[in-house]
Amino acid sequence: MPSPRDAYDDLMRRCREWTLLQSCSAVLGWDQQTMMPRGGAGLRGEQTALLATLVHDRMVDPALADLLADVGGSEVVADPESWEAADVRELTKTVERAAKLPRRLVEELAKTTTAGQEAWVLARQANDFARFRPHLESILKLKREEAAAVGFVGEPYDALLDEYEPGTTAADIDTIFTPLTAELVPLIRAVADSGRRPKPGILDRDFPIDRQKLFAEGAAAAIGFRFTEGRLDTAAHPFCSGIGPGDCRLTTRYNPRQFNEAFFGVLHEAGHGIYEQNLPAERYGAPSAAYCSLGIHESQSRLWENQIGRGEAFWTHFYPRLQQAFPGTLDDVTRDDLLFAINAVKPSFIRVEADEATYNLHIALRFELERAMLTGDLAVADLPGAWNDRFLALFGLAVPSDNQGCLQDVHWSFGGLGYFPTYTLGNLYAAQFRGAASKLPSVDEQIAAGNFAPLTSWLKEHIHRRGRRFRAAELCRRATGDGLKPESFTHDYLREKLSRFYGVC
Ligand code: ZN
Repeated sequence: MPSPRDAYDDLMRRCREWTLLQSCSAVLGWDQQTMMPRGGAGLRGEQTALLATLVHDRMVDPALADLLADVGGSEVVADPESWEAADVRELTKTVERAAKLPRRLVEELAKTTTAGQEAWVLARQANDFARFRPHLESILKLKREEAAAVGFVGEPYDALLDEYEPGTTAADIDTIFTPLTAELVPLIRAVADSGRRPKPGILDRDFPIDRQKLFAEGAAAAIGFRFTEGRLDTAAHPFCSGIGPGDCRLTTRYNPRQFNEAFFGVLHEAGHGIYEQNLPAERYGAPSAAYCSLGIHESQSRLWENQIGRGEAFWTHFYPRLQQAFPGTLDDVTRDDLLFAINAVKPSFIRVEADEATYNLHIALRFELERAMLTGDLAVADLPGAWNDRFLALFGLAVPSDNQGCLQDVHWSFGGLGYFPTYTLGNLYAAQFRGAASKLPSVDEQIAAGNFAPLTSWLKEHIHRRGRRFRAAELCRRATGDGLKPESFTHDYLREKLSRFYGVC
């Protein structure tokens, strides 16, 4: 029997090996979305399937359970807050989950969601829910099986949410979302009733793409994204891929008439990228060195995209530079005109185009419906009607068609039930982190002067460098002194902003 220390070292060597295999997959995935000729799709499918098998075989190796047994309860993990204890906690979870899922179910899920995604693309194009319906029914059936196999204390949703936001339950989300929704609905109505609007046409002008790219790269670098260890390319769907230490890839897409689309997209992905670049590289491959949760990851992107990137201090520094980057284009626009235009609140049908206030209602709606579908309280056949009724109640808008309603998102088609709440958690965590960091002396003055280092250093120390050593709730407590407090977002952040632009409070 190996010593506990040797067993631990063996486990970490194995984890590093499959993390390296996953990083190879990530390079191939990036290439597929940016560079690969269309003819390469077949070969790429085989390549990534092979890598996935190699990873899976390593994760289900029976030797892992024995090694974990050798380490468990030993002096290596005696301190429950140590990196080593976190490694063993996370690895045990991965191994146990993999062992509980029958191979047949994993294969069936892979097949069903591949077909589901194809069907979703066609159904959305044709605005024909009936085409997607049988696929969603099959996916739900399999996800219920998955939840039952993995196990849960409260309800099936918990088992799925745990994949994305470890340690959080549907009841936790409900406790956050119910009061959040009750507060946002009248607030958004008050914004509409205020009658105030930004000046029209501010954002719809000629913004040459090469200049947009230079300006966005300059901003990403200013807030702390290291281009010596990363790059920015063009792709149909913007993303950030943290391939590993020293290599992080961002993508965006440009609209030659609306600079704000790519610009805030780049800030968003750069926020993810800065997190990835500052994870504890010296522990690379260890389970504790990964990002904490999807909600925490999203907090980093939304903090830069919205809570800093749409703020007055940010544009005090960047507005003269924006005017210089596009000579003559914005001569008639003041900084405050621009600020109002990029912070406008307006209910709309499509989640990914939503503003900061209405965005969270889009998520609350999806959470309610996917939770009800999973328990069986809502039949898939009744989804479009339920969606439209709820949308009308929350937004005051009648959904004109399913492709602007329940068919708009890809998530359910790939089996991502339980994923949506992490977006709103990201908004809420971001506001709380920003609030804690802004207690540092003169953070806003520093940002207005173009110095982002104090904020980036705070995030690095309190969030990024901690990887997955703590669960999200504990990470938040250590960084801010409190568990998640949604009022940091609603009260301290959003209401202040809306009172400034719309006079509501
Ligand atoms: Zn994101």
